[in-house]
Order: sequence, then C-alpha cells, then structure tokens
Amino acid sequence: MDYEIIINKNKCIKNEELPKKLVAIGKNEHPTISFENETDDILLEETAALFFIKMMNDFNSSHINKLIPDSGYRTIERQKRLLKYYYDRDGEEAFSYVAPPRSSEHHTGLAIDIALIINGKYTDDITGEEEEIIDLQSICYKYGYILRYPKGKEEITGYKYEPWHFRFVGLNLAKRIHESGLTLEEIKQLKYVKKLK
Ligand SMILES: [Zn+2]
Repeated sequence: MDYEIIINKNKCIKNEELPKKLVAIGKNEHPTISFENETDDILLEETAALFFIKMMNDFNSSHINKLIPDSGYRTIERQKRLLKYYYDRDGEEAFSYVAPPRSSEHHTGLAIDIALIINGKYTDDITGEEEEIIDLQSICYKYGYILRYPKGKEEITGYKYEPWHFRFVGLNLAKRIHESGLTLEEIKQLKYVKKLK
C-alpha cells in the first residue's frame, strides 16, 4: 500500500490501488445516510487503523470530550449512491460537495472523518474552533496522520477547509507536512521536482 498516494478530483483511484486489507475501528451509530446492504462497521486500511486506534485512545485518555470515528473507507458503489442521492435532492449543486466516484480519498481506506462526544452528546458538526480539534490537528502527525484539507489551501487541494477529515500518510511524511505547513499535493510535487534535478 502506498501511504503517500494522492487521490483527488484530478486523480482517480485505480482498482489495483484499492486497499487490500481493511479493519473495523468502530460502528457508525449515527449514519447520515445508509443504503441497503451496507455494513455499519467503520473500516480503515490495517496500518492506518492501528495508528488511528492508538491516536484515539491516547487522545481520549487525556480529554473529557471524546473523539470517535465517523466515516472511514467508502466503496466506489457507495460514492455512486451518495452522488445520486444528493443529485436527486439538489441537482447540479451536488457536484460542488460530493466527490465523483473514484476521486474520493475515502476509497483508499486511509482517510477518516471524526466526530466528537461533547458533554455526552454526539456531534459531527465540527467547525475547527473546538479545543479538541485544535489539539488533534496539532498532534496527529505523531501518529502518521495529517489534516488533509487545511484552511487557505482550497486552490491546491480542491476542497474547502475540512477540520474533521484526517489522512494517514505514514510517520515520516506526516512529520514533514506538519513542519513545513505544506499540503500533500505540494510536498509530493516538491519530491517530484527534486527527482528531476
Ligand atoms: Zn472525509
């Protein structure tokens, strides 16, 4: 598995790039939409899952409000169904907030959306202002995760700021991204330019 893989609106995932081994990290008890024949297990690629569980346990042992997984691996079929669902509801508008099938990072099994239990209440309405989210964004690199769609990088990532969406890239790359303040797209471009020289 290439933990540094880029999947975005310009780069679709190929069948051979789909995760080989997925592990359940929890159950989705608050699905926004669920379709027939879908599991309520939240799945991640096995190494990404190990690191996520470690991060979540460490985080939850030192915070009153808890971090929980909200959405992990997504099949291409689910992405198709999601797009259709929102297209039927909102028309063309749907394309502005639902990634087309094969261009969602959630297909890699390396991306995770998180939610919080604040004062005992489930909330997925994350603004990025929450103390817990600020903490998580500053320590996640220690577990190989990055905030994938930061504020002010919309033109580069193609996504608006998503304070809840984290991506496993491995320890080394996560540290470099954290220290440089660059996005995954920018740092990979840098590597490519270095290779050419
Ligand atoms: Zn996401």
